[in-house]
Amino acid sequence: MSVEKPDNNDRRKVLKILGYGAATVPLATLSACSGEKAPPPAEPAPSAAEPAPEPEVPAAEEVAPEPAPAEAAADVQLPLLSEDDPTAKSLGYVADASSVDADKYPRYEAGQACSNCALYMGGDAPKGACSIFPGKAVMGAGWCSVYAPKAT
Ligand code: SF4
Repeated sequence: MSVEKPDNNDRRKVLKILGYGAATVPLATLSACSGEKAPPPAEPAPSAAEPAPEPEVPAAEEVAPEPAPAEAAADVQLPLLSEDDPTAKSLGYVADASSVDADKYPRYEAGQACSNCALYMGGDAPKGACSIFPGKAVMGAGWCSVYAPKAT
């Protein structure tokens, strides 16, 4: 039995085929086969002719501070609490503290008023919100039996 040796023409054919194949395989495929990541595509260098984009600056009205809760409560146009309101009656609310029935409410002392009560949210306004009567405004000169002096 004899082993045929490939002649030079066969070798050339094989090398030619391998050479063409290597030329047609993209580099990315080769690096993927070797387990390496392909380098990212290069980003175009910033052009000196193109100015950098301006950062967005919000308009002044967009950055206006929120009013403090006490100011917000004073600004709200709430309906005035009526002394005839059932809750107001049960708590002895009066629009003018000087008319408090001292016999019925012995806790009351002259000088006490909504405007110096810790629950009054009207600030220096003549009327304002009170957490005891949500959705209503009480008079700064008013009073009720829940009165609690502001901390000084
Ligand atoms: S809780 Fe204070 S602010 Fe509210 S009604 Fe009574 S006294 Fe006035």
